[in-house]
Amino acid sequence: MSIQKNIKEINNQLIGTQAKLIAVSKTKPVEMLMEAYKGGCKRFGENYVQELVDKQATMPSDIEWHFIGHLQTNKVRYIAPFVSLIHSVDSFKLLFEIDKQAGKNKRVINCLLQLHIAQEDTKTGMTETELVAILNSEALSNLQNIKVIGLMGMSTFTDDMAVVRQEFKTLKDIFDRVKHIEKDNCKLTEISMGMSGDWKIAIEEGSTMIRVGSAIFGERA
Ligand SMILES: *Cc1c(COP(=O)(O)O)cnc(C)c1O
Repeated sequence: MSIQKNIKEINNQLIGTQAKLIAVSKTKPVEMLMEAYKGGCKRFGENYVQELVDKQATMPSDIEWHFIGHLQTNKVRYIAPFVSLIHSVDSFKLLFEIDKQAGKNKRVINCLLQLHIAQEDTKTGMTETELVAILNSEALSNLQNIKVIGLMGMSTFTDDMAVVRQEFKTLKDIFDRVKHIEKDNCKLTEISMGMSGDWKIAIEEGSTMIRVGSAIFGERA
């Protein structure tokens, strides 16, 4: 298995599409990330705060670090100095905290709002109603250190690609219904959906960011 070859193959298939590759490197050692980096990969996605902080400290500074896992408000401060995009914002409370910590670092942090599109209740994310309430709120307008640039979703863990495709369509439909809502700190252009097993379908359904881990780095333990 060659990490660089895997990245090259995926990137070749992204030519002519609207999608960017986020290499999901959670649980994988820095040596493997460095191999990906040397293969031209500059965007990495991580799920755990401490692991992300440790990797960021040792890897080259031109990497874009994406946080894609469940984020607790009390841990935002550790990633606020450098994180490039937080995909997994599932409440206004979290958005508020990201804004506060971004301000302390004199930064503006880009965020995606995570929607619950899967059948399992285990996958976090908000409903469309909650999303619309946040997007229309006065409270959102007051946040000066975040920018909401799109939506993220995770499909059901299943081999049934018809189910997965339907869930991606649902996310795209929601995106199309809310994208007219624009503010100084909110302009929805990104849809983060698709993982190793379903990224091709995700792109067909409008994904602009695919989050691919095992298809690049191999299965996780
Ligand atoms: C782990 C993870 C991925 C990547 O999963 P693979 O199936 O290994 O590609 C993508 N998105 C999120 C939110 C993840 O937690």
